[in-house]
Order: sequence, then structure tokens, then C-alpha cells
Amino acid sequence: MEGIKGDNLLKDKKVAILGGGPGGLTLARLLQLKGAEVKVYERDFNKESRVQGAIVDLHFDSGLKVMTAAGLLDSFKNVYMRGADKYRIVNKEANIYLDETNDGKEDDFNNENFRPEIDRGVLRNLLIDALLPDTVVWDSHFLSMEQMNDSWELKFKNGTTAFADIVIGSDGHLSKVRPYVTDIQSLYSGTTIIQGEIENPESACPEMYNLVNNANLLAMDIGKTIAAQPMAGGGLTFYAASLYPENWTKNSSINFNNPDEVYAYLVDYYKKWNPVFFTLFKACKQFIVRPLNYFPIDQHWEAKSNVTLIGDAAHLMPPSGEGVNTAMLDAFDLSECLCNEEFNDLKTAIAAYENKMRSRAAVLAKEAIESIQDFASPSEQSIKELIEMFQS
Ligand SMILES: Cc1cc2nc3c(=O)[nH]c(=O)nc-3n(C[C@H](O)[C@H](O)[C@H](O)COP(=O)(O)OP(=O)(O)OC[C@H]3O[C@@H](n4cnc5c(N)ncnc54)[C@H](O)[C@@H]3O)c2cc1C
Repeated sequence: MEGIKGDNLLKDKKVAILGGGPGGLTLARLLQLKGAEVKVYERDFNKESRVQGAIVDLHFDSGLKVMTAAGLLDSFKNVYMRGADKYRIVNKEANIYLDETNDGKEDDFNNENFRPEIDRGVLRNLLIDALLPDTVVWDSHFLSMEQMNDSWELKFKNGTTAFADIVIGSDGHLSKVRPYVTDIQSLYSGTTIIQGEIENPESACPEMYNLVNNANLLAMDIGKTIAAQPMAGGGLTFYAASLYPENWTKNSSINFNNPDEVYAYLVDYYKKWNPVFFTLFKACKQFIVRPLNYFPIDQHWEAKSNVTLIGDAAHLMPPSGEGVNTAMLDAFDLSECLCNEEFNDLKTAIAAYENKMRSRAAVLAKEAIESIQDFASPSEQSIKELIEMFQS
């Protein structure tokens, strides 16, 4: 990777990417391919810190396209989770409505409907390994920054500081960079999920392990859903989703740090369901409760000349399978704009990127907001439609 040449806007500039999630790491890789000087500041203590959450699927026109542009598609093909893109949909009795696990379809990266899944931690390692040594500065929990002439002084929780000419916020849904770009706040979607992980499901809850069968399991009944997915290393992640009032987490009397209390709540909430699902809750030793928020779809701000946002920090939306893919597309578009010699200055380049990013995100966020209720609180009709969609 050679240094930036010619009139490129990043010539002699230091780029700080705040947050080493899929968006930030992809951006670092793409910018390094163009010769830019880049550091990624990540709050996790080191590379071994465990990435929470289950698998994510990359799509033909977004995640996979960007992996190709980053020269990483072959590495991806070596580590994606075969079979995990298949769906199993069951009812509350755990009777199977739809099963793709034996459909006999071959993995085909040329098929635009093929959406290979990858464990989040595996994806993170793949992206980190593609960066120049010491690109990621671990234990760098960003707190604030101050403008010093044309550059920024960044301040981290561990007392260290750093300088950068351009700052990119890829620090996710509670971004601390976002307030330097816009004061537009997120809104509550009406859905809250209770998430759990089980490291050894084969022994801790074997019936559930078999029901998931290394696929994407959706268990649906009127008003509530449980989703479960495999993780690398044989684990399982699950999400218990439903509609709850805003601030329910704070206002409920449940101590979400006490697994016994959460277990008792879930068993009561799902009391009409097959007890096999309770084995999932029993095996979980730590729950995370996530009210799902989103940024308004018509959000707009005036571009700055030296700070911008990508991924969830820019356009948080309810989960719809697009979040990682969109964060990677943002990384691609921003790297193309910042290194495009046709723009006269950084502000124009950032404005061009942000316009494209916001228009794309508005369409996806609208779909995600409309579909989250059908996921978290399905009706008889929406379950029927979902099954028909998979069958077609
Ligand atoms: C329950 C659930 C399921 C989902 N399922 C899917 C799915 O199947 N497919 C999909 O595409 N998307 C899914 N998403 C959405 C997806 O997780 C996000 O859209 C995606 O991870 C956004 O990537 P990002 O790089 O912008 O941010 P993140 O992945 O959130 O990464 C942000 C990074 O910044 C770091 N960070 C945060 N604050 C700071 C700070 N102050 N200083 C330094 N570092 C910091 C974090 O440690 C993290 O590494 C799901 C989301 C949820 C909640």
C-alpha cells in the first residue's frame, strides 16, 4: 500500500476512525488500499475481546460487493458459516412451519439471492488482519474532541489523546462523535428485545440446539417472537422480541443483571409456549435488554469539512438484516468520495457522500421501521405472509 499521490484530498492528512465495528474497519481497509494514513480507535481492550451478537449475512449488492472491492471476498469464502443462511420457522409449540435446512440448494456467490452468514467476531478478525500493523489502537474509548486550528484533538477515557485532520464516527448507535455533526436524536421503535448467548448449547439445552439445527430459527406466535442463531464455536444467540412501552426497561421492576429474575419474567411471558424454549432461557447466564431505536428517516444536516459519520452512528435503524451491509456501503462510498480528485475540497466530498448515504438509509430505515412490528409482534396474517415469502 503506497502513500497518497497527486491532488488527492487526503494527501498529508491523518484520518481517525472512531469505532472498530464492521463499518469502521472496512473504511480503514479501503482507505489504506488508496494509500491514506489511518488509525482506528476502538474502546475494546484488545483484539481478543469478545464481540457480542450473532451472525450477520452479507448481501450481493452491498456487503459482498464491498468485500470484493476490499480484496477480501476469498478470505470471506474461507470463514463464512455454511448452512447458517437457511431459515427454520416454527410455531409456539415448536412445530415446524417452514424448513430450508434440507432444501439441497448449493451455496452460490453468483446468485444475488444468496446471503452467506458470518459470525461477527470472525468478520471483525478478517477485517483487522487485512489492515497494516498497529492500525487499530485498542483501549481507546473516545470521550470528546476539540478543534485545534484545522485539526482535532481527540480525548480518550484512559487519559490518552491523539490528533487527526479528519474524524469519522463509526462508533455505533450511541455514537459520541454524532453530536459534532448533528443534534438530531433517536426515536423509540416500540420494540424491545431481550438478548442472550449460550456457549455450549449442545449440552446445556440440547433440544433447542437440535431445533435450531445450525440455521436461523424464528419461533413466532401472535404478539411475540423468539429468534435463535448459531455462533462460531458452536454457541447460540437468541432474541426474545415483543412490543413494550418506551422506557419499559427502566420502569419495569426486573433487574436485568439478575439472570434468575429475567428467566422468571420470560417463562411467565411465554407461558403458553412449549417449555423447550424455556431451556434456552435457563441456559443463559447473562441477558442484555435492547430497546430498539432509530434516527428519523428525513434527517438532514449541513456537511462539515473534517468530521462525518458512517453506519449506525449515521442512520441507526431497527434490525432488518441491512445494518452491517449498509455500514460497509457507507465505508465504500466515503472512501471513494474522499479520494476523488474531482472534488475541490473535503467539505464538498463529505457532502456528496452524506447525500448518497442519507438517501439510501432513508429507504432502508422506512422498510425496517415498517417491518419490525411484524417481526416482534406478528399477526396471523404476517406469519402467513412471511412463510409465503420464504416459499417463493
Ligand atoms: C439484535 C440485533 C440484530 C442485528 N442483526 C443484524 C443482522 O442480522 N444483519 C445486519 O446486517 N445487521 C444486523 N444488526 C445491525 C448491525 O448490528 C449494525 O447495523 C452494525 O453492526 C453497524 O455497524 P457499525 O460499524 O456502524 O457499528 P457497530 O457494529 O455498533 O460498531 C461500533 C464499534 O464502535 C465501538 N465503540 C462504540 N463507542 C465507542 C467509543 N466511544 N469509542 C471507541 N469505540 C467505540 C464499539 O465497541 C464497536 O466496535 C442487528 C442489530 C441488532 C441490535
